[in-house]
Amino acid sequence: MKRLIMGTAGHVDHGKTTLITALTGIDCDTHREEKARGITINLGFAHIDLPSGEIVGIVDVPGHRDFVNTMVACASGIDFALLVVAADDGIMPQTREHLQVMSLLGIRAGLVAVTKTDLVEPELVEMAVEEVRDLTAGTFLEGCPVVPVSAPAGEGLEGLRREIAAVAEGMEDRPGGEVFRLYIDRIFTVEGFGTVVTGSVLGGALRVGDTAYLLPGGRELRVRRLERYGREAEEVCAGDRASINLVGLDRDTFRRGMLVCDRVIRPTSMIDASLRLFPQRRDLGIWSQVSFHLGTCEQQARVHLIDRDRLSGGAEALVQVVLEEPCVVQYGDRFVVRNSSSDLTLGGGEVIDAAPLHHRRRPSGLIENMSRLADGGAGELIAAEIRKRYRPVSHREISDILNLGEEEVREAVAGGLPEGVVRYSEGEEIYLAAG
Ligand code: GDP
Ligand code: MG
Repeated sequence: MKRLIMGTAGHVDHGKTTLITALTGIDCDTHREEKARGITINLGFAHIDLPSGEIVGIVDVPGHRDFVNTMVACASGIDFALLVVAADDGIMPQTREHLQVMSLLGIRAGLVAVTKTDLVEPELVEMAVEEVRDLTAGTFLEGCPVVPVSAPAGEGLEGLRREIAAVAEGMEDRPGGEVFRLYIDRIFTVEGFGTVVTGSVLGGALRVGDTAYLLPGGRELRVRRLERYGREAEEVCAGDRASINLVGLDRDTFRRGMLVCDRVIRPTSMIDASLRLFPQRRDLGIWSQVSFHLGTCEQQARVHLIDRDRLSGGAEALVQVVLEEPCVVQYGDRFVVRNSSSDLTLGGGEVIDAAPLHHRRRPSGLIENMSRLADGGAGELIAAEIRKRYRPVSHREISDILNLGEEEVREAVAGGLPEGVVRYSEGEEIYLAAG
């Protein structure tokens, strides 16, 4: 069975939360302050049962510009987007910003709902649909279904459900990998159970009774109880919205942005990455202070340009990100950068090395190596790790260093190694060395 998560996107008050309630019967505005202010501040969660028997998890994001940080945090775990545009308001700033953020996070599929059709004449609905077509041209939503709906009138909801099912059907299962990873987005205490954390499972699987670790820090926990989509489960896997009841640590130890993992993987304070800036935003100089967002983790960081002295809007560069606090990341992870006061999204990118050396200078060989990594996948990454060392490294060590599963390393190595790397086996162990 496929396990997918759909995330809403769109400007505040365009009807995202109302639409999710109409589709699922679940009210995502559960917090008292949200009710009072009428906007989704935190992440709302729901799920929808598809005719195929599959369940799609739903993350309802806040649309207000003050909460783009939260939007980024929850969009990090989703598989496809439901962009919501109100027919009476049309495209607004966060409609564009959310669409850009989702592109940066690597979202590749989705659909659009044009809401509040009951408030306007049919011609205005048509205009809004046209506006959406223009906005999405050239993006991952180009040519996607655009469905007019009215939540109070119940109009268009069946059609929207069908289109959601079709998008889900057309998607591949999430390539979750071997390592269980969940960035915590909510923490609460349940009477009689203790601490419960929630998040989107990015990879791997976790079962009741398993040992888990809270990262950074590597403190050990036991999984007492699991829920997916609000129902008790024996196991949660990549693509699930999960709640995990953990025993072994005080509630105060947990923070949003921390990672629950099935093994201790090492945190890093430096990341090599490719970074793309949005067009028409400010340029970045060779060293720039930014607000860095990966998973549900958010912190100040410095971006060091490697292959140029200035990065202008619309362009892409190789960078080294120096984090203020250690963070646990894997190569291939997507991130977003905002300006240092975190009120403007500048761009984002992809981690190409989660354990780089510190690049004080920028020799041409370095740029070449980083470009190769950006294009190369796991094989190139392993090769780069081996070139950093003088002695042979075992596949177990590599899996440890790169936060990959042992099987993943075995497979990457079996698929042929890049130039300059030799391998030999000793029993179960594979050794790799620069040759
Ligand atoms: P969000 O900020 O995008 O989540 O927007 P909400 O779902 O909170 O909706 C904002 C306001 O628009 C609320 O007062 C809703 O009742 C109203 N609303 C949402 N959808 C519709 C719709 O289809 N028709 C009408 N008339 N009002 C709507
Ligand atoms: Mg809302």
